[in-house]
Amino acid sequence: MSYVGPDFEPPRPRRSRRGPLTVAVAALVPGALLGWLVYEAVGGSDAGASAGAVGTPSSSSASASPRTSAPTSSAPDDAKQPAPSAAPTTSAPAATGPLKGKVVVIDPGHNPGNFRHTAEINRKVDIGTNTKECDTTGTATNSGYAEAEFTLDVAHRMRTLLQAQGATVKLTQDGDRPYGPCVDERARIGNAAHADAVVSVHADGSAAGNRGFHVILPGSVHAGAADTRAIVGPSRGLGERIAGNFVRATGSAPSNYIGDGTGLDTRTDLGGLNLSTVPKVFVECGNMRDNKDAALLTSGAWRQKAAQGISEGIVSFLRG
Ligand SMILES: [Zn+2]
Repeated sequence: MSYVGPDFEPPRPRRSRRGPLTVAVAALVPGALLGWLVYEAVGGSDAGASAGAVGTPSSSSASASPRTSAPTSSAPDDAKQPAPSAAPTTSAPAATGPLKGKVVVIDPGHNPGNFRHTAEINRKVDIGTNTKECDTTGTATNSGYAEAEFTLDVAHRMRTLLQAQGATVKLTQDGDRPYGPCVDERARIGNAAHADAVVSVHADGSAAGNRGFHVILPGSVHAGAADTRAIVGPSRGLGERIAGNFVRATGSAPSNYIGDGTGLDTRTDLGGLNLSTVPKVFVECGNMRDNKDAALLTSGAWRQKAAQGISEGIVSFLRG
């Protein structure tokens, strides 16, 4: 989510000004293909070149099984210490494929265990421009499907798709630690891996009626330990390709509440971006608090499409 918690600013008022793209996209919804053509028109996507390059639609995806209530149990292993830092889950190197030699880091937002570790995740960390909490619990649908479950599921699907293309894929967390990692560590994992691309996967927690996805790009930051100046350009290239491919793969329109209809938003307040030294973006796949978006986010078949769209954007970016 991008409105609550340490890594995100408080809710910002919906922008009143609508750009021409917003109007165009709104007029075309649910004409997803046409929405994608809007991207083509503005040069935001070369999706056609890589369409179908990543995996195949999965008709066998498991359907979602949203919880009926938010998790409340306390785990017996609460005292367990977090895994040592910089110990990301690493895939076996792929032998062949167009992404052979490329390293992709997938950062599943939040952690299913964060809600049991509020003291730890509220600890302040340095993000260059200022300090922020280590991590947040994330949001959930009204029926209790947690964002942290969503992000891990999409990350797993992406890992499978990208490994099939020959990429070496690392996850910043795989539900294998009690909480976190903190946002600064999430950035360091991508940096230490010398990743060619990093994507942080999220879903938003905005007001009902706010719908659609957006990709968050790093703005130019040069303060303290943060220096994004070298990654602003390539990250935008990565983000534009993901946005275009996301529209095409999912049929979802870009956000109707942020980004003026472009599906792109630039921020300088996110530690995970500020501290990155490699191309990195966040993807907010939809709004969990909107019931129509939630119906998509809780669908395994839709999550497969989302994973394909993001992955195809990555492939497009890395193949140049
Ligand atoms: Zn989030």
